[in-house]
Parts: sequence; C-alpha cells; structure tokens
Amino acid sequence: MNYSALLLQSGLDKIDAQVLFGHCTGKNRAWLIGHGQDEVDPLHASAFNPLAARRRAGEPVAYIVGTREFFGRDFVVNPSVLIPRPDTELLVELALERAGDGARVLDLGTGSGCIPITLKLERLDLDISAVDLSPAALIVAQTNASQLEAAIRFYQSDWYQVLGEVRFDVIVSNPPYIEQNDHHLSEGDLRFEPRSALSDEGDGLAHIRSIISGACSHLSQHGWLLFEHGWDQSAACRALLEEAGFYEVQSWLDLSGIERVTGGRWAGA
Ligand code: GLN
Repeated sequence: MNYSALLLQSGLDKIDAQVLFGHCTGKNRAWLIGHGQDEVDPLHASAFNPLAARRRAGEPVAYIVGTREFFGRDFVVNPSVLIPRPDTELLVELALERAGDGARVLDLGTGSGCIPITLKLERLDLDISAVDLSPAALIVAQTNASQLEAAIRFYQSDWYQVLGEVRFDVIVSNPPYIEQNDHHLSEGDLRFEPRSALSDEGDGLAHIRSIISGACSHLSQHGWLLFEHGWDQSAACRALLEEAGFYEVQSWLDLSGIERVTGGRWAGA
C-alpha cells in the first residue's frame, strides 16, 4: 500500500488524516505530497492506524495530538480544557485595541490560558491575571504560560471570589454559555470537552449574569468588560449590560458574520 492509500483508507477527513500522520511520524503535509506513491513503512502504518481509529470514534484531533494553534501559537490541551476556537481571537483583538499602556487585565474562566497568554505575548506592558475554577485546567494554563514564557498571575477561583477589592481596566471572558438542553452538547468535539467549560446547566446566560454583576465591583471607572457568547445571545447580553449601568454597549461579528462578542464600559458606582 502507498501513503495516499493509507490516508484514504483511514476514512478520515483529509486534513485530520494529514495532521495525525504528521504528529506520529514527524512527516508533514509537504512530505506526504512528495511521497504519496511510495510504499508505506510498516512502522508509519502502525503509528498512524491507532490514532485514526481514535479519531473515527469521535475524539477531537486537538486532544489526540495534545495541542491546538491559537493566534499563531501552539497551546497544550487535554480533556480538562476547552479546545481554543478561532472565533475567540476576536475577543483577544478587541481587548488589545482597548487596553491602554500597562492596563490591568483579568481573564475569567481561562481554560488552556489561550486568552491571557496571547494578550501578554502581544503586549508585554499589560499586567494580566487569570482565574479558573478547575485545578486541572489551571495546570494546563500554567504549562502553556511557562512554555510560551508569558508572565501571568493565575488563581483558582469561582469567578471573582478570591480577587478581593482589586480592580481591573479590562475584564475578558469566554464563559460556558451553552444552554443545558442544547443538542450541540451531544455532538462532535463537544462530547469530549469538559461539560463545565461549555454549559451553565441553565438558560445559557447564568454565568454571563454573574460576570456582569461582579464586573461592577472589579472594573475601574470607564473600564471595559468584553465577553464571548452564543449566536443568539447578543441582544440579551446587551440588555444585561445596559441594565447593570454599562455604556458604549455593543456587539461584534465573528468570522462567520455572527454577533459573537459583546461588551461595554463601566460608568462607575
Ligand atoms: N478561555 C478559554 C478559551 O477561550 C476557555 C473557555 C472555557 O472553558 N469556556 O478557550
């Protein structure tokens, strides 16, 4: 059998097959294109076939290879953390545009740490803290911060709980916002991701309400709160921010043209 046939017979999406093959053999896509007609080395087949079987059983490619690219950098991931999504890069860009020199930034529910680490590496002047409730997620976030050499303060905390009186200039979050009965939770990659990182086990806005109400006592005056949410939640999120006393409340479109991030500025008490 040749390499093209090995990948084709795996039954996987072509890109998935190439990524898994590259991961276990060190041979990238360019190598595969040049060697598609070569006879397969049996060692390559025996490394690739078990990974292909895991993927066929539904396991996300990111968990099989142990990393996912976000904002041009590779982040370690495992089933304790949400797999970083390209849509979340919008939240990072919006925060970068709004954070002044030396701004204090807080990321709530940091998971893999992809948001605060990217902010820090893009802007060394920022003073960044990040929290997560899950100790297992914090281990992944700290691993990423040390591998990518980003200085961040990490705290285990139920949202703002351990932060005391400290105030921030920008608060960001990609919280669990999927409504408990949403069928997506039992489909695709989501079946393998931590349920607590995806759903609030309520109407989808429960954590967003907590984040907004706590932001009032943790934002400096005119500070920004920016958070990601579901495709149909933008109007509800704007209303919650306005009721809480935020101004310049607006939503921004993701790569698919869906309002995906909403935010506003804290007017002060
Ligand atoms: N902040 C992380 C991310 O955006 C994790 C978010 C989460 O677990 N809900 O990928």
